[in-house]
Formats: sequence, C-alpha cells, structure tokens
Amino acid sequence: MSSGIRFDRVSVAYGGNTVLDSLDLTVEPGEVMALLGPSGSGKTTALRAVAGFVRPASGRVLIGDRDVTDLPPYRRGIGMVVQQYALFPHMRVEDNVAFGLKAQKVAKGEIRGRVAEALEMTGMAAYARRYPRELSGGQQQRVAIARALAIRPGVLLLDEPLSALDAQLRSGMLAELARLHRELPEVSILYVTHDQVEALTLADRIAVMDKARLQDVGTPQELYRAPRTEFTASFVGNANLLPVTVAADGVSFGGVELKVDTGGATRGASATLCVRPHLVGLGAGPNQVVGTVSEIQWRGATHRLYIDVDGHRVMADVRELREPPGHGESVTVYFAPEDAVLLAAGVTDG
Ligand code: ADP
Repeated sequence: MSSGIRFDRVSVAYGGNTVLDSLDLTVEPGEVMALLGPSGSGKTTALRAVAGFVRPASGRVLIGDRDVTDLPPYRRGIGMVVQQYALFPHMRVEDNVAFGLKAQKVAKGEIRGRVAEALEMTGMAAYARRYPRELSGGQQQRVAIARALAIRPGVLLLDEPLSALDAQLRSGMLAELARLHRELPEVSILYVTHDQVEALTLADRIAVMDKARLQDVGTPQELYRAPRTEFTASFVGNANLLPVTVAADGVSFGGVELKVDTGGATRGASATLCVRPHLVGLGAGPNQVVGTVSEIQWRGATHRLYIDVDGHRVMADVRELREPPGHGESVTVYFAPEDAVLLAAGVTDG
C-alpha cells in the first residue's frame, strides 16, 4: 500500500507554548523524508503527530487520502521505530514482532509467515527464540524495525533510530536502512534525525527544522549546493558565511571585489556569501583573498585551516599538506565563482 504523508498547517502546543508552528509538508508515496534540525526544534513532535501520540492544536494530518487527525494510533497503518528500541523485555523476539499483528487480529496462520518475513528482511531470522536481553543493541534495533515492518505499514516513522548505536554499527545500519528502502519502494519513510550525515545519506528530501518551524525543504543536493538560508547552509554541511556587500559584478568582502553570481541582488545591499570549506583552495586563483592562519588542524586526509581575513574567519579544508603553514603565517586562498552562493539578506535569519 503506498500512502504518503501530508502535514496541512499542523501546529502543536504544550501549555501555551507552540512547539510546532503551522507545518506544511508533504512526503510523497515511497519517499524518504528526513526531518533534520537541532534538539528541541519540533522534529519528534511532528513525527508523533503522524503517529497519533500528540493531538495538533490546529491543522490536519493525512496519510494517503485519509485525514487521520482524529484516528487513534493503531488505526493509522503506521510502523514506528524509536531510539530506545522499546521491545517488550519478557517476550521473545518472535512475539515482539508478532505484537502488532495480534493487536490487529491478523489470523494466526498468517502471523507466523509475516513474522518470519520481517525477521528475514532485517537479518534476524536466527534469533526468533531469543529474548531482547540476549541481543546486542544493534540486533535489538533490527527487531524493532522488524516489528514495525510486520504490519506492512504504508508509512514508516523512524525517530533517531541509530543514535543509541556506536559509530561503526550506525554506518552499517544506515546501509541496511537504505537496502530496506529499496526493498520496500512503496513505503513512505519519515526519518527524524539531528545528524546531517544520516539525512544526506538516506533521504530523498530533507526538511530542515528550527525553532518549531520548517526552515527549508529540498533534496540533499539542493540544500547542500544551493542553500537559501544561513541556517540551512550551516546545518547541512560546513559553511563559510561571509558578510559581503553586493557590488556591480559580484560582491565586496573585506575591501576585495569577488566575482560571484548575485542573482540580481540590489547593489549596495548587505548579504551573506556561502562557500563550502572544501571548495576553498590554498594559493592564488580566481576570487583570492589574503589572510593569516589563526589555527590549523590535521584531520588525516585533510588539513583544516582557519584564516583570519580582515577580521573574518575563513575555513579551508585542503588535502593534507606536506608542509603546512604555521600560526600567524600569511596565506592566499581562493574559490571559483560558481562555488559560492549568495544568500540574500532577509532570508538569512533562522
Ligand atoms: P526535537 O525532536 O526536535 O528534539 P521535540 O519535538 O521533541 O524536538 O520538542 C520540541 C519542544 O517541545 C521542546 O522544547 C520540548 O521540550 C517540548 N516538548 C516535547 N514534548 C513535550 C511534552 N510532552 N510536554 C511539554 N513539552 C514538550
């Protein structure tokens, strides 16, 4: 069953405090939408509104064509996985996975097949008779995913599903989730995370949240290459955000004219120029500026240089240098005109 999710101006308040403010967002059938944002920005609240665990103060939630705003959670056809696995400790793996099916009064004979299928899909078939305490964290999370999938949901809600796992397990599970998505191309997935790598890796589109509001939505590439706001630029990837003044054929930064596409911005206006640190090169080139090294970090494959240019900090991530410059040394850095994005004033506030 392919469903899709629609938030139609959904607001949620706790004790007069609006924690989700008029969210308008559509997750297409079969799409993975990441809700990305800092802690407290309203991501989980949005997800819980789809699940039916919080009641919007206003607005509607639709799954497919159905307005589910007033439906109890178990009638919404959703699967949900949260950070803390939330398995029933006294039940074996197979009974945990069967739980939702029993609640839905699926015939006994069918339950067995569906449990086996869900455990197969998550690579947990060999563990059906174990108890959760006999499993690692990663295995428990697989069981939680199997439990969510067993009901064959049209919509899968994942709330920071990897954050309780250590870094190595996390990247393995990320690949597993991508595989599951390929195997279930009709299931819409809403994926709450504060981790941009998870969002960039897994999502078809990312909805960037901050302060109870949707700030931006787009494909990972759009948000990374052409962010509209400072918040998006700095939350999706690293960013140099340089205060500039729009000039005739580019911008002026620290008294230097830089050639960039101003997109018709008004001459003389203040704006912010976004340049990704890995697109800043060391040496002379187009759009070069001179500054002094205030800090240098060796990161294995790269060096991160912090360069003070006329009182502004510019970061450059360059391939590991044989002879890195020292503190206080004067360096020239540059970037290609097409690698800079001008953020107009007025859309730069978070
Ligand atoms: P996120 O998932 O982005 O970290 P949440 O949606 O969990 O953010 O929370 C958004 C805001 O709502 C936070 O300020 C949080 O403290 C508040 N909040 C969440 N749940 C409740 C609740 N049950 N009662 C009161 N405030 C809540």
